[in-house]
Amino acid sequence: MKQDLKNFTQEQLREIFKTGGFAHYRAKQIFAWIYKRRVEDFESMTDLSKDAREFLKKNFFVSQLELQNKETSRDGTEKFLFGLDDGSAIETVLIPEGTRHTLCISSQVGCKFKCTFCMSGQGGLKRNLEVSEIINQYLYVVDLISPKEITNIVFMGVGEPLDNFENVLKAIKILMNSSGVSFVKRRICISTCGLIPEIKKLIELNLGVKLSISLHSADEDIRSKIMPVNKKYPLGELLPTLKAFSKKERYPVTFEYVLIKDLNTSKGDAIKLAKLLSGVRSKLNLIIYNASFLKYRPPPKEQIDIFTAELKKRGVFFTLRKSKGQDISAACGQLRAHWQKGA
Ligand code: SF4
Repeated sequence: MKQDLKNFTQEQLREIFKTGGFAHYRAKQIFAWIYKRRVEDFESMTDLSKDAREFLKKNFFVSQLELQNKETSRDGTEKFLFGLDDGSAIETVLIPEGTRHTLCISSQVGCKFKCTFCMSGQGGLKRNLEVSEIINQYLYVVDLISPKEITNIVFMGVGEPLDNFENVLKAIKILMNSSGVSFVKRRICISTCGLIPEIKKLIELNLGVKLSISLHSADEDIRSKIMPVNKKYPLGELLPTLKAFSKKERYPVTFEYVLIKDLNTSKGDAIKLAKLLSGVRSKLNLIIYNASFLKYRPPPKEQIDIFTAELKKRGVFFTLRKSKGQDISAACGQLRAHWQKGA
């Protein structure tokens, strides 16, 4: 059976070609055709021998995503809905900000972690995305906006990227490969709810990618209520792991904290947050919840003021923002889908 060429790293292709009796550098040439020159027809890969092209035709195909829908927000954010072969659909979001173009990529169909504020988690996990399905989100959008470039990639779409570890890792290796896309490693960010064993694997691998944590509360009990994953991987164990990550990567960890009315915005919540972050090399992004989902509501201005004043008093630096693409239900972040109804 033919396999999707985009599911393979260059190292894997090298092995496959070697086994097929071809020179190992064929893998590098193929990477250049597909990921640099954006040529996907084997016959057009003119520096490959006829035999190598026949080998490719016999054993591989090159997949593409099918665009089902595209919406553009008033703030310029674009949301792409792609159809998959099994009838599932995934979303990818492009966020322009000045000269930056950040692509928010999905890693799974659904999610099993059931954070109470997140629509993606409500239906459970359908399946992991293939490597090719992750890569093709990037390739589709980069072709579309050319000659503009995607400057940043964030694994913050639907799904928990570290729960699809092997495929996300392969996709990142393909994106960073110098024969192809050659994406700058520090401009790739993995956003996670805090899967400690996989963060430890990232520490071992020392890939150079950034890490972002969906925090949303510095209180163990509250976090366990809204993010059940905290019962398995509590903050008390997560924080030392993040410190180790930051030390190894020599880069701060980003914390995402969505401000939700009467849930996590009191003066006491700010004090706990300041204490939690002390001693961790970190960046803090506060995001104002501005939708209505189940019992969750946007915080009034007074709550935001009290919370942020306490952080400032304690010397905690932060950015405060609203989500992008609200009018097209494309708010990015692990919380992206909770802005939607029926996502
Ligand atoms: S916030 Fe992230 S980890 Fe939690 S349910 Fe949603 S997609 Fe899954």
